[in-house]
Amino acid sequence: MADIRIEKIAKDFGATKVLHEVELEVRDGEFVALLGPSGCGKTTLLRIVAGLETRSSGRVVIGGRDISDLAPKDRGLAMVFQNYAVFPHMTVADNIAFGLRMQKRDEARVKRQVEKAAGLLHIEAYLDRYPAKLSGGQRQRVAVARALAVEPAVLLMDEPLSNLDALLRLEMRTELKAVLQAAGTTTIYVTHDQTEAMGLADRIALMHSGRVEQYDTPTRLYERPATTFVGGFVGNPPMNFVAMSVSGGEARHGAFAAPAPTTKDTVLAGIRAEDVEIVEPGTGLAYEVVVVEPLGSHLLLAGKVGGQLFRAVARPESGVRAGTIIGLRPRVERIAWMDQETGRHLA
Ligand code: ATP
Repeated sequence: MADIRIEKIAKDFGATKVLHEVELEVRDGEFVALLGPSGCGKTTLLRIVAGLETRSSGRVVIGGRDISDLAPKDRGLAMVFQNYAVFPHMTVADNIAFGLRMQKRDEARVKRQVEKAAGLLHIEAYLDRYPAKLSGGQRQRVAVARALAVEPAVLLMDEPLSNLDALLRLEMRTELKAVLQAAGTTTIYVTHDQTEAMGLADRIALMHSGRVEQYDTPTRLYERPATTFVGGFVGNPPMNFVAMSVSGGEARHGAFAAPAPTTKDTVLAGIRAEDVEIVEPGTGLAYEVVVVEPLGSHLLLAGKVGGQLFRAVARPESGVRAGTIIGLRPRVERIAWMDQETGRHLA
């Protein structure tokens, strides 16, 4: 079993608190992404799990064993980083074998494991080559194969695909997911790219200023953001927020009304771009269309509701034009209602 428990991990750099008693549990074989904006503490948290950074307090438990004070090499994990540090003076095979030889495995086993890892990453044909004669994507595969060759119970990855071009990233993303699922490796994966996190992870820990803002499946994060920060970070385009006034059990903005989820005077309605229907002007929300982007499968509209930016998706045949005012009716059952003061979801 290689479940990971991060228990109240805090980190101060001098007077600056970069992690606030973070709690996180990763199940055996689960793929968890640490997602969040630059500087939110993702890398620091991952490095603490790896043993490459000291913690100020808290502990890390893997498979029931407190590993907080062990050296990195004794933690039973492997790592892949953004600058995929493959050794230039070693062939691909020797690169992949590196960790196994460090563990002093017999050469027959090393050979077997190297071939298996190379097979998983489709680089068997390059085993005798030197990294200088590989593309960026192939080099990245070598780094991943090297990490997988030791059959780690836990794999830690920090932006491992960010040096690759968009197409290769997509390809590697799909492969990584398949490979790690097949291997049953417990994985923590740091990224600031929400598409990557959504595509890869079983669960995402969305971090914000040294705290985990929400820890949930990609779908839950998208559909039921715990805070306005989550709604605004996850999803492309981000969630729209419309302030509505509440009276007589009804939340209202212009001609659009819905049953009020609160007794406070105001509430924020979190509305996804695709959760609206175009209706006659004068009904629904009054929507001032500013820009129409024809994206083939749909039109992406940027415009304003009550002076605030609002993005909506419309069908290509809807014929929406920039510079017009149309009606938008949000699907009430899809609205994420947020407390306007706290920015938290109203359960
Ligand atoms: P990014 O995506 O930009 O890498 P991140 O979420 O991984 O961001 P961290 O690298 O964990 O963020 O950094 C968290 C905070 O800790 C940042 O504000 C950073 O400036 C600070 N920090 C990191 N390392 C140190 C250090 N050695 N000394 C002082 N502050 C540090």
